[in-house]
Amino acid sequence: MKKIDINSLMNKPFDTIRSTVSGTISKYEKKYNAFIEIFDMDKVTKKKSGRLKNIPFSIKDNILFKDHKVSCGSNILENYTANYSAYVVEKLLEEGAYVVGRTNMDEFAMGSSTENSAYKITRNPINSDYVPGGSSGGAAASVGLGIVPFALGTDTGGSVRQPASFCGLCGYKPTYGLFSRRGLVALASSFDQIGIIANSIDDIALVTSIMNGKDPYDLSSYLDREINEMEHINYRGINLKGKIVGVLNNFDDLPVSQKVRDAYQKMINDLEKINVTLVNISPPFLEYSIPLYYILSTAEAASNLARYDGIKYGLRREEKNYQKMLTKTREIGFGKEVKKRILLGTYVTAAGYKDEYYKKALKIRALMKKNYEALFSTVDFILLPTAPTPPFKIGEKIDDSVVMYYNDVFTVIPNIIGSPALTLPIYETSEGLPIGMQLIASAKNDMDLLKFSAKLMRTIK
Ligand code: GLN
Repeated sequence: MKKIDINSLMNKPFDTIRSTVSGTISKYEKKYNAFIEIFDMDKVTKKKSGRLKNIPFSIKDNILFKDHKVSCGSNILENYTANYSAYVVEKLLEEGAYVVGRTNMDEFAMGSSTENSAYKITRNPINSDYVPGGSSGGAAASVGLGIVPFALGTDTGGSVRQPASFCGLCGYKPTYGLFSRRGLVALASSFDQIGIIANSIDDIALVTSIMNGKDPYDLSSYLDREINEMEHINYRGINLKGKIVGVLNNFDDLPVSQKVRDAYQKMINDLEKINVTLVNISPPFLEYSIPLYYILSTAEAASNLARYDGIKYGLRREEKNYQKMLTKTREIGFGKEVKKRILLGTYVTAAGYKDEYYKKALKIRALMKKNYEALFSTVDFILLPTAPTPPFKIGEKIDDSVVMYYNDVFTVIPNIIGSPALTLPIYETSEGLPIGMQLIASAKNDMDLLKFSAKLMRTIK
């Protein structure tokens, strides 16, 4: 598979790019299932100029694109059509880019393998017996197969970084608010961010500079002037040497696979060789990250998904009365994982339990933010693996929620504290399966993180 980057497509005529994209799709799509729908490229209307002129990209199926379907990988929204476009999609179209199609995902972005999609199973481009990760597995596959140079995914607890890691790609979750969430279908609003999967940090940086902006319709969004005005990463000014990176001194109490431990140690050695200063840290509340994330995110999800009631959006099953219609619609519209999380989220916020679970988790989240802030006053970045294991096989973990949820142990931290984080595809197992490493920075330090990582990718590789 030939991966593509934005630069290699720059200044090529639309028809040339379109026929390359169609060629790649017909070669791979049938087997790998990256997309839920590929849009009709004869109907593409796009700007004739801009910084991304003629550049194709894909959108995860929970990001709105006006007059196109958006199903969130769910039966309940199978025939729902977006009546406006997401802020970030508008921004990219304004610069001349165009959308190839909507990519497969775990239903409502709940999952780590894309096996929870109501429609199909996506395969890993590197080895088709393996999952591409999730929930943005289709997004990662669309880049890994060489169909598009970049994909928009969403990251609530790792769904951009983990599939990037599993497919050997770069994956970026920005600081909470760097990208507007308008037009992103909510899973857990205080964690959700749109993110980017691409082959290089340079492409991620370029796309980020276009997507950033203060959106009057999302009050959590903010303008980062330095990022917004960046043309491309200026390598000359970047010095790796003076930076301090916090690393885990051991994985003793954590179920992390030996292959990931080895890759992590290799990265430590590589950083030492180029004189980056390393200090041992123990990430605050690491052992609470999974319970905390699954309490708070399911509480928010249960509330967000209450809107699918058969009246306002999507599917409606006609029944004798309102209560029956509501119940039946949700029963046939939602899949197993979604129902499980609605139950869990309802339980942890119910009278009698909310003090014990929901409120306690909120308190720990506040403490975590404080403790990480303190940690970031002593280090520039934190290095963690993206996932505790290399890619796993299709079917291997789907029947065990506890094992599957544990895959998110390292990725949920940035979402809990609102920090930016990047997956860097540097290492692989002896069988050729990729293992991504994750760098985390303090909130609003996206520019530093992008620069450091871009330089690192050129230095270590
Ligand atoms: N795997 C995590 C979950 O299942 C993260 C999902 C996400 O980031 N959308 O919730």
